[in-house]
Amino acid sequence: MKISDIFERTARTYSFEFFPPKDEISAIDFGVNVGQLMKLSPSFVSVTYGAGGSNSERTFALVDYLQNKIGLTVMAHYTCVGVSKTKVVEDVKYLKSKNIDNLMLLRGDPPKGATDFVPHPDGFSHTSELIELISTEFKNTFSIGAACYPEKHPEAETFEQDILHLKEKTDAGADFLITQLFFDNGLYFDFVDKLRKAGIRCRVIPGIIPITSYSQIDRFFKLSGTKIPDILMDRLESARDNPKRILRTGTDYAIEQCKSLIEGGAPGIHFYTLNKPGATVEIFEELRTVSITN
Ligand SMILES: Cc1cc2nc3c(=O)[nH]c(=O)nc-3n(C[C@H](O)[C@H](O)[C@H](O)COP(=O)(O)OP(=O)(O)OC[C@H]3O[C@@H](n4cnc5c(N)ncnc54)[C@H](O)[C@@H]3O)c2cc1C
Repeated sequence: MKISDIFERTARTYSFEFFPPKDEISAIDFGVNVGQLMKLSPSFVSVTYGAGGSNSERTFALVDYLQNKIGLTVMAHYTCVGVSKTKVVEDVKYLKSKNIDNLMLLRGDPPKGATDFVPHPDGFSHTSELIELISTEFKNTFSIGAACYPEKHPEAETFEQDILHLKEKTDAGADFLITQLFFDNGLYFDFVDKLRKAGIRCRVIPGIIPITSYSQIDRFFKLSGTKIPDILMDRLESARDNPKRILRTGTDYAIEQCKSLIEGGAPGIHFYTLNKPGATVEIFEELRTVSITN
């Protein structure tokens, strides 16, 4: 089913993002963990595409499995990294043959150590071009998602330019946007206001990740420049040497954050699960108790 059709039926979606397991042991772990998350009946699930365009086969194998063996509504992530236009058409035809109706289209990041994204000579420099090609070649076959950044994409010179480029993605055919992770809801709501003013009308689904370990803080900042609000940072600092308290603090904060997003009118939550069920299950159950997942 297309995600755009799910939007017709429900005001809010709750979705889970996974990455393909790297080896057989992680695959067993994945099966156990994902089993717990599936009991929550997500609106859809998404599967990331290897950073640097690596291991696309694993993404394709997992989307096939989740869509056709488990019967979930699946969105396959796909990036511009290292692919020509011909290869894109070939890959997308393959995904269609596996009954995939939803694509999350992305540019991908420059390889580790490099600062600039270098496109394939017959490929794409920006995601809007990839969206344009797929929308034109495959007409209304797919519901298309794209990424957005409430704290600005790190490479964009200004917020205004970033939003203009975001508009190019929705004009090219993106049906909805999913945000980069963030911890300050004020940034999300201000961002959505800016998008509306720029004429972007589609759903902007907040992407949420609970902090489950102290080391993640630095990693998130390096990955996306995401700021941790002082109130959360103080709580994490005071729990720094106690992994259980960090987990509790991060999960409690995410519960508060998700509730206030939904109460403020966000159209659902996209959970970056990191393939671990614990915190996501707890947050989801908590949202259910206040009847906002229905
Ligand atoms: C929800 C989500 C899921 C993700 N999943 C994956 C994944 O599965 N695999 C993966 O490798 N990465 C993934 N990423 C990371 C993503 O690939 C990176 O953030 C990447 O750096 C940018 O991708 P984009 O699609 O936003 O790029 P773009 O939309 O192309 O934007 C990238 C930069 O280029 C600028 N830009 C855009 N168009 C133009 C133009 N015409 N002229 C000049 N500048 C322009 C933008 O302002 C921005 O600064 C994900 C990110 C998010 C938020």
